[in-house]
Amino acid sequence: MTAVPLRDRLIGGVIGTLVGDALGVPVEFTARSARDADPVQGMRGHGTWNQPAGTWSDDSSMTLVAAAVLALNGWDLPGMMDGFLRWLDAGEWTAHGAVFDIGNRTRNSIMLYRIDRDWTACGGDDEGDNGNGSLMRCMPVSCWLFGNGLAGQLEAAGQASALTHAHLRSRLCCAWHALWCDAVLSGRDVRTATRTANDLLRRHVPASELPCLARILDGSILDVARSAVLSDGYVVSTLQASLWCLAQQRDYPATVLAAVNLGGDADTTAAVAGGMAGLRYGASAIPEAWIAARARRDDVLALAGRFADACLDHWAACGARAERMARAAAPTACSGRR
Ligand SMILES: [Mg+2]
Repeated sequence: MTAVPLRDRLIGGVIGTLVGDALGVPVEFTARSARDADPVQGMRGHGTWNQPAGTWSDDSSMTLVAAAVLALNGWDLPGMMDGFLRWLDAGEWTAHGAVFDIGNRTRNSIMLYRIDRDWTACGGDDEGDNGNGSLMRCMPVSCWLFGNGLAGQLEAAGQASALTHAHLRSRLCCAWHALWCDAVLSGRDVRTATRTANDLLRRHVPASELPCLARILDGSILDVARSAVLSDGYVVSTLQASLWCLAQQRDYPATVLAAVNLGGDADTTAAVAGGMAGLRYGASAIPEAWIAARARRDDVLALAGRFADACLDHWAACGARAERMARAAAPTACSGRR
């Protein structure tokens, strides 16, 4: 199989998130039985949130904020939190100027940040704070951390999660995502990347968290029956469902539609699965009609391109595994740290 260029993968990670989100928004919270009776096969309008076709939600807005901050400032977690605040208060990087969908934990964290600007203490760390709100936006962070080394990826992905979701389980899920993305950016396929991420993360998971993450860490989630895949708003469910869709399907459209048609938290499951599939198969594998149907098509494509270029420059400046980049047919010139 021809290698997917790194720039195409990076753009695919961002655009794939948005397309999955937009496919899922009209059917968020619907039952799986409803999707079985009336499966989503393309962009729809209205439905759950009565939004026009191609409208993305909080998952994508926060992903775009993260991508924009990384592209402009580099690693800047307080800057990312400032961006989340502008999204909530002023509608920055929304599809049509208004926030219509936000998780409780995310809202509470941003409101705490608004009061004292302490980005280190606003994330919820109770066990009940393990919704999928940090996993859904972590694709740009995971890409940025490529080649950063296991210890650095664990710490940084966890810190980025903790802006809103600080419990160890959410931080581990975001760290797993970063390790999986690192493996995919290195040219590995879905199953090999999963084994790689599992082998790296397993020994860093305390015994208390092992039962919750077992079906990911032992790889068994890849081949369970569809009836055993949950698609609710729990961070572990979303990561498991995304992995199952990726393992069971062979291209971007089939992966993201499988995610949407699990029902439940359809937009977030499809956003996470769509981002991972976009990174795996590249932006060029996403149907053009779905890209064209999204709100603010040109703005988003321009940002995704800026983010991809910033990542490539950042990796080169950091000396990120030049042999990996060469193997993946990426530019190797060092053009300065951002
Ligand atoms: Mg949403």
